[in-house]
Amino acid sequence: MKFITFLHNGSHRVGIIDPEQVTVWPIADLVPDFTEDLLDLVRGFDDIKKFLTPTDDGIPLNDVSICAPIPRPEHNILCVGKNYLEHSKDFQAIGFDQSSGPTSGDAPEAPIIFTKAPSSVIATGEPVYWSPGVTQQVDYEAELGVIIGTAGRGIRRADAYSHVWGYMIINDVTARDLQKNHKQWFLGKSQDSFCPMGPWVATADEVDPENLELRCWINDELRQSANTRDLIFDIPTLIETISADITLQPGDIISTGTPSGVGIGFDPPKFLKPGDEMRITIDGLGELCNQIGPNLDIGAAC
Ligand code: MG
Repeated sequence: MKFITFLHNGSHRVGIIDPEQVTVWPIADLVPDFTEDLLDLVRGFDDIKKFLTPTDDGIPLNDVSICAPIPRPEHNILCVGKNYLEHSKDFQAIGFDQSSGPTSGDAPEAPIIFTKAPSSVIATGEPVYWSPGVTQQVDYEAELGVIIGTAGRGIRRADAYSHVWGYMIINDVTARDLQKNHKQWFLGKSQDSFCPMGPWVATADEVDPENLELRCWINDELRQSANTRDLIFDIPTLIETISADITLQPGDIISTGTPSGVGIGFDPPKFLKPGDEMRITIDGLGELCNQIGPNLDIGAAC
């Protein structure tokens, strides 16, 4: 099943969308007392799913405004650095970052985990923006996002997928100069609007997360093209690593890393500028599209 969070007639709602992505059915019309929060759908999915059969014509998807699926995650978004080999080589080659260690070859020896602030989340169609006085090296990173469905601590690889509720597209927008200057990635990854996600989420049964084509265009130029089978650390490894001593909760999000083709990998680098359009697709997960806005005065709609 596919679900979206959306704005219709002034109200935030959560709905099911059909496979053709033309109609949405509000869940609250099917499930009494539903809270209109996708996190509550994730938490209560085993009890709710039996009610999720549309009974009317629904609402045309073109008549609603799509919000981020999880507009304000409860916890920071967990992210993975340098998790595709070619992307890792890009960083090594330009001397930008040596966090995988000088003797470890091109690939990190263990997953590099960092986080983004929940306040960085925006929807497809909303602008990404920043203060030119703060950063002048903003970059895109197309990634597969994993949504945890079942809480767990000390989750073993073999059990990892049973803790996954669904998947979505994430753009891990990054201020490279802040990432480099501050030696720790949180600041350069967490600026307002730096985590576009969506347009919708698909439940785990809908996609094969180990064989998804991922592509990213900037102004119609294909910059990133890869398959999730090439992740250095696969999803079970990431879940096992993160949950070793941290309890993962329903609704927690893991962004699995980006492949080669980011702006800083070019010579000279191709950083984003106002008016640029970022468009990301992943098999079965739709298209996430965001433009670079001109200034800080543009507020989020959702
Ligand atoms: Mg990333």
